[in-house]
Amino acid sequence: MVIVGAPLDWGTTYRPGARFGPRAIREADYLGADGWRPHLPTGINALDVLSVVDAGDLPVVPGYIDQSIDVVADAVERIARAGAVPIVLGGDHTIAFPDATGVARFHGFGKVALIHFDAHADTGESHYGQLHGHGTPMRRLIESGAVPGHRFVQIGLRGYWPGPETLAWMREQGMRSYMMSEITERGLDAVVDEAVAYAAKDVDAVFLSIDIDVVDPGMAPGTGTPEPGGLTSRQLMDTVRRLARDLNVVGADIVEVSPPYDGPGEITAFLANRVVLEVLNGMAERKVATSS
Ligand code: MN
Ligand code: MN
Repeated sequence: MVIVGAPLDWGTTYRPGARFGPRAIREADYLGADGWRPHLPTGINALDVLSVVDAGDLPVVPGYIDQSIDVVADAVERIARAGAVPIVLGGDHTIAFPDATGVARFHGFGKVALIHFDAHADTGESHYGQLHGHGTPMRRLIESGAVPGHRFVQIGLRGYWPGPETLAWMREQGMRSYMMSEITERGLDAVVDEAVAYAAKDVDAVFLSIDIDVVDPGMAPGTGTPEPGGLTSRQLMDTVRRLARDLNVVGADIVEVSPPYDGPGEITAFLANRVVLEVLNGMAERKVATSS
């Protein structure tokens, strides 16, 4: 696994600050460099099982979104080609486009499923007349063919966006989008069972894109576009670990952590840090299970 930061927030539409996300997520790790403690539920020390390196931040170009996207896509592709799994710390959600594109350049366009946790669909046709911003990455991935619509599963949508035209477009593309209202009604486990079956159908590679605003702002206030009524931090952590254990995760990003808006005690940064650890633990469980 290669962890990299993509410290850009010039694709945000409301509160900025996600450029400081990678730093805050790293600083939330107080577990110590020697002997990362084993994950209590599994007894597995992911850092013993996996080879994990933090390669620092990518040289994104402040204020220049197209150039920054190229930097991120090329880096992610290089990591994938080297046989490693890229885990990108955002940054705003604009980076899902270069992240999943970089992975798809190696694994094949159309060969990677994308499981997207978010309050927002991020399928906008345009970002104030521009192609790229944090509200459009999923549309651009579908249009380019990197990740076709029928390979998309979205979990946690709620609030007041997008409108009916975009929702109709999403259905036409074959996207499977689970709103919080459906999750509350049916239960998260039932939805995730279905999501796994849908996303993994005919493909053996999955990208996880995790917008921290999928979690309720009561538990994750440090984000640019908070939307009340989300998942609990426990639900997100358990779900990403399960997905990383049960599916072949070939890349992941954790985005939209905006430290200037975080609550006392840096609770959002801690959550994002632990979400990354749960992904690593799920991957480690998978490796232990398949090698024994
Ligand atoms: Mn998003
Ligand atoms: Mn969002």
